[in-house]
Amino acid sequence: MPMQVDFLVVGSGIAGLTFATKAARFGRVLVLTKKRKADSSTNYAQGGIAAVFGENDARKYHVQDTIRVGEGLCNKEMVAIMVRDGPKLVQELHSMGCRFSMNSNGKFNLAQEGGHSRRRIVHAKDYTGQEIERVLLEGAKKAGVNITENEIALDIVIQNGECVGIYYLDADTRQIDVILANATILATGGIGQVYQHTTNPPIATGDGIAMAYRVGAKIANMEFVQFHPTAVYNIKIDGRSFLISEAIRGEGGVLKTKAGAPFMKKYSPAGNLAPRDVVARACLTEMLYANTKYVLLDVSHLEADFIKNRFPTIYETCLNWGIDITREPIPVVPAAHYSCGGISVNKWAESSIPRMFALGECSCTGVHGANRLASNSLLEAMVFASRAAARVNKISDIKITGPTRIEKTTKIGPNLIFQIKEIMDENVGLIRSEKKLHDAKTAIDGFYKLFEEGIHITNAESRNTTVIAKLVIDSALNRKESRGLHYMLEYPRKRRNFMKDTITRISKQEKKIKKTLPTNRKRDGTRRN
Ligand SMILES: Cc1cc2nc3c(=O)[nH]c(=O)nc-3n(C[C@H](O)[C@H](O)[C@H](O)COP(=O)(O)OP(=O)(O)OC[C@H]3O[C@@H](n4cnc5c(N)ncnc54)[C@H](O)[C@@H]3O)c2cc1C
Repeated sequence: MPMQVDFLVVGSGIAGLTFATKAARFGRVLVLTKKRKADSSTNYAQGGIAAVFGENDARKYHVQDTIRVGEGLCNKEMVAIMVRDGPKLVQELHSMGCRFSMNSNGKFNLAQEGGHSRRRIVHAKDYTGQEIERVLLEGAKKAGVNITENEIALDIVIQNGECVGIYYLDADTRQIDVILANATILATGGIGQVYQHTTNPPIATGDGIAMAYRVGAKIANMEFVQFHPTAVYNIKIDGRSFLISEAIRGEGGVLKTKAGAPFMKKYSPAGNLAPRDVVARACLTEMLYANTKYVLLDVSHLEADFIKNRFPTIYETCLNWGIDITREPIPVVPAAHYSCGGISVNKWAESSIPRMFALGECSCTGVHGANRLASNSLLEAMVFASRAAARVNKISDIKITGPTRIEKTTKIGPNLIFQIKEIMDENVGLIRSEKKLHDAKTAIDGFYKLFEEGIHITNAESRNTTVIAKLVIDSALNRKESRGLHYMLEYPRKRRNFMKDTITRISKQEKKIKKTLPTNRKRDGTRRN
């Protein structure tokens, strides 16, 4: 019999660990993670978590800011839940030992970020994510959660329309096996690695979204990919572009052309603190206009000691690359950063497939709408993970009625990831057009066919990024308007009839083929070799 647990979590970032730590009191929790425990976007988050603590702040302002930035597509009920439940969970992290930056009066030191009307970003200097990851890993250990590294979830096991576990690859032994669970929780993070220039670490290949799509789950709003305006030009660390947090502009950093002219006031009255999509497109426009490969972000007018103390990671990292940010500007470019779309879930984080939950960046709760407000993602991940943990208590035990063993069903997939990245950077970036999207679609649809059948043991990530690229392109082609993060040259304005989510589901025809996956049988019932 395959291994069986109560709750199977895929992913050890803020979403997976928050859930695991809280659900452990209701049953046995196993967390699978495809690399090392701390390899996650969470670990690299710099800016912080948005939550209402400021004296001049109130929930209604945080709700208003989130909805304004989301440009008409935010789910208001979900936003209200996130804003209401967030502060308690931030306090909880603090009580667990998270060393947030504090004022001398013992209150959180609140930072300012773009799109926020108040200072409300709780942070641990500029290594907030690392601190949260550390505390949650400790918390999970204390709660008795078992975390296994180097195990890559490949596909969802479906029985009678319900999710009953996953197929996974042990990266060390190269064996594929099954784990069954009463509830399966996808917390696999973002999709940034589908692009060449991304702030996301190599784990961010959209695996959870691709797996969910293959079994027919509802996927929403994949066209809304957030590009962070300020990744350091030409510097990659462990496969990701190094990010300069928005908080640096919150403290007075100024964007300038390569020739040294500040430009943000031309694009928004909020100047350097305009929402990310506005700033990212402004940077790209200035780069195209002046034919330069980057723009500059200047903090050299701020006190050197303040910079070193407030942004130690950014200061040290840039210095290692020969840029002393206390004296000279930083060359920056926009880079793929965050996916607002994902597996569509309800207010308990349940997907459209029974017993399958989705949390964090791989989910689409609707709180971000067409654009994410800075520092709302760590918050969203914690809030809905906590709600899912309260929900799974009520889940019944599964009864397995058919075979679940995998025999030699595996295939060798081609490695297409570099081609996919090039196609996405070239055609599906910040400024889109029908022609470019169609060009990308032709290429990606061709790749997609290569992965139609079989579990692909090698290059599983190519298989998943192909699905993600397809979802982003198809959703982008569907939305014939410009809204939030999605900008189309042919349709430069918002249009009323697009005031709705883009929902994508695998077609019946494709699903029929995928159904043969777990059994290793051809459609005529004979076994494959
Ligand atoms: C550089 C950077 C800075 C950021 N700064 C901020 C910020 O200041 N504030 C903010 O709110 N947000 C920020 N974000 C966004 C935020 O960090 C992420 O949205 C959030 O951490 C996502 O958490 P998660 O738990 O959903 O996913 P992650 O933290 O990415 O964790 C995903 C986990 O899933 C695992 N996994 C993936 N696929 C598989 C598979 N097939 N099998 C097994 N395991 C798998 C990974 O190994 C990893 O453990 C930042 C993001 C980046 C990249």
